[in-house]
Amino acid sequence: PPIAGLALDISGLRKQFGGVLALDGVDLSVPAGSCCAIVGPNGSGKTTLLNLASGYYVPDAGSVKIGGVEALGSSAQKIAARGVGRTFQTPRLIADLTALDNVMLGAYTRERAGLLATALRLPSARAEARRLRQEALGFLHFVGVADRADVEAGEIPHGQQRLIEIARAMMGGARLILLDEPAAGLSMSELERLERLIMRICGLGATIVIVEHHLDLVANVASDVTVLDRGTVLAAGKPAMVFNDERVMRAYMGE
Ligand code: ADP
Repeated sequence: PPIAGLALDISGLRKQFGGVLALDGVDLSVPAGSCCAIVGPNGSGKTTLLNLASGYYVPDAGSVKIGGVEALGSSAQKIAARGVGRTFQTPRLIADLTALDNVMLGAYTRERAGLLATALRLPSARAEARRLRQEALGFLHFVGVADRADVEAGEIPHGQQRLIEIARAMMGGARLILLDEPAAGLSMSELERLERLIMRICGLGATIVIVEHHLDLVANVASDVTVLDRGTVLAAGKPAMVFNDERVMRAYMGE
């Protein structure tokens, strides 16, 4: 496959914020090229897990291996350069740049930023800039929002901004993609497109970890699901099995 996915192996992960134990010894193994979902009630630690895996936070204990290599102690920038891309619940695009320019910026992750900037200022770099632009447009096509290429990101609905973040991650050469609630705010037809998109990205070989409340989407795209509840793993396994687990249903009902 054209993308050599990175496995994610988390063990004994623990993170405390003041008096709040957000994660209390979480294990999670995601094989390269698979799609794994993390679900659970609000406040159960899902986003914290993504923040730890991508180096935004440093855990109090535990291990995070990316492609078999320990990632703890690496900066978020270094982890991104190793091929970890992500999207955010509240998209983090540059609002007054176009969708296309935002995706082009993804190239900074994989090429040394200073080098790229210098290269793009040279007259001989025109062709390179054109090539990057074409590549970025290709990724916008891939995620289904090419018609927004020239629109400022801030003018685009959040659901589509998250798709643009996926394109930006791919532009950055991401081989492990962490998606934080990608379905939020999408219409039914956009949801179906997102489903197909996630399956296509995995089909290319990339690894996907998706935090999502939309359980139908999870059941359709994820081969495995891990349920978090108050910072611990409540259940893990195939979606059909996990979603029929009585303890899981109780956690969702808030009993
Ligand atoms: P989820 O994504 O499942 O809704 P989070 O990972 O966002 O859960 O949060 C888990 C717990 O950790 C919550 O109690 C939340 O308030 C707390 N928390 C998360 N991030 C921080 C932070 N940066 N500072 C303080 N508390 C935080």
